[in-house]
Amino acid sequence: MAVSDHVDLPTFMEGVKKRNPYQPEFVQAVQEVAEDIFEFMQDKEEYHSQQILRRIAEPDRVVSFRVCWEDDKGNIRVQRGWRVQNNNAIGPYKGGIRFHPSVTESVLKFLAFEQTFKNALTGLPMGGGKGGSNFNPKGKSVREIMRFCQSFMTELYRHIGADVDVPAGDIGVGGREIGFMFGQYKRITNNFTGVLTGKGLEWGGSLIRTEATGYGAVYFLANMLATKGEDLTGKTAVISGSGNVATHAAEKIVQLGGKVLTLSDSGGYIHDPDGIDQEKIDWVKTHKTHRRGRIEEYVEAFPKASFHAGKTPWGVPCDVALPCATQNELLGDDARMLIANGCKAVAEGANMPTDLDGVHVFKAAKILYAPGKASNAGGVAVSGLEMSQNSERRSWKEEELQQMLKDIMAGIHKSCLAYGDQGGGYIDYVKGANIAGFKKVADAMLAFGVV
Ligand code: NAP
Repeated sequence: MAVSDHVDLPTFMEGVKKRNPYQPEFVQAVQEVAEDIFEFMQDKEEYHSQQILRRIAEPDRVVSFRVCWEDDKGNIRVQRGWRVQNNNAIGPYKGGIRFHPSVTESVLKFLAFEQTFKNALTGLPMGGGKGGSNFNPKGKSVREIMRFCQSFMTELYRHIGADVDVPAGDIGVGGREIGFMFGQYKRITNNFTGVLTGKGLEWGGSLIRTEATGYGAVYFLANMLATKGEDLTGKTAVISGSGNVATHAAEKIVQLGGKVLTLSDSGGYIHDPDGIDQEKIDWVKTHKTHRRGRIEEYVEAFPKASFHAGKTPWGVPCDVALPCATQNELLGDDARMLIANGCKAVAEGANMPTDLDGVHVFKAAKILYAPGKASNAGGVAVSGLEMSQNSERRSWKEEELQQMLKDIMAGIHKSCLAYGDQGGGYIDYVKGANIAGFKKVADAMLAFGVV
């Protein structure tokens, strides 16, 4: 065997930066993982000599394509679409599709890289991928969205398959968009197969898929609190976002006896000191998802609440915080403010919502802090269960799936403890998740040789 070229972390990251210019989100995601993995690999020659981390940080492929569609006025519009297939060492590529104007190749590469570790943590056989477009669904008619989804799938269909790559929803892609894309896939291929997850219940979808990410994040939070002998009863929660993940996280917090104080969108946040109960959460779901409204209108419906334009909610004192909107929405100063105000636990519903500075602040303060790849894995876990149900041509009952979701989140928590327990009552969940996810993928890659 050749003598391995042991580079140190700064040299490794220099290489990542050089090979991925203008891709700050991707570099950030690799850095966060590499910080832990380099320490773990110190005495593991095989991972070094086989360049495993270098290989995981180079996507298997990035497909980029043009998406043309016609708007309601007859104008021809041109968007860019991507599918990033990061790694399929342990199963078919799996990861959501995001439609948002902020989507770039860097954002999708970071998400596909993170997804690789997250999917490994679930214990299910799924590799990591992610896709999307810079298409902005806001303000578009349903027919425009349908035409866009059809055009997007007209190219994407040749890169995916039930045993190849199975996309799901993400920001801007919910059940309706999955329906439009599945319809087009079926029309082109004449094949009714589990090629997408997040499908409608009538056509191959799974119960609790919609709720799974938010519910799973709160189950994970409850597992973390339990290590300190605590639960969510009477705890105040600050949540960002008001989409799928945020509203279902809020719902589960309320079910477990907590009090939700905030929700947000890209316009700002609302603070409701009385608590956002189930009735108010239902209002938000209808208002944001079905009416495509703005969160600021919450204060008209519930006048005791206040709206804070252009701000994030991290200054509101709370016991627990769940960032559930988007990447880099919780910065170093926000993390310091949360800690100063007595926040005990943070569970990420979104992907990489905390920037590197914030991660370092949480780690230094030794609070309970779960990275998204661990705490928001409930969604992809139930997607994995949807794939199993599709393969078996059967549907599991809701209670069975709820229990499986709980068990999977408890299993991820246990994996984090295995590699993240630092002694003295401190668990480094970032390190635990990174190492547990990496080890599973890395060991599979070793088995395949140099491919
Ligand atoms: P969603 O239903 O589209 O909701 C996204 C929410 O985030 C909306 O409230 C949106 O506000 C807000 N938001 C988006 N960009 C923002 C920005 N730049 N600044 C502030 N707020 C912003 O999406 P989702 O499915 O809940 O996904 C939220 C996060 O969870 C993402 O990071 C996603 O990758 C992650 N995630 C989702 C799943 C899943 O199963 N859906 C699974 C794992 C992880 P506007 O309405 O103003 O845009």
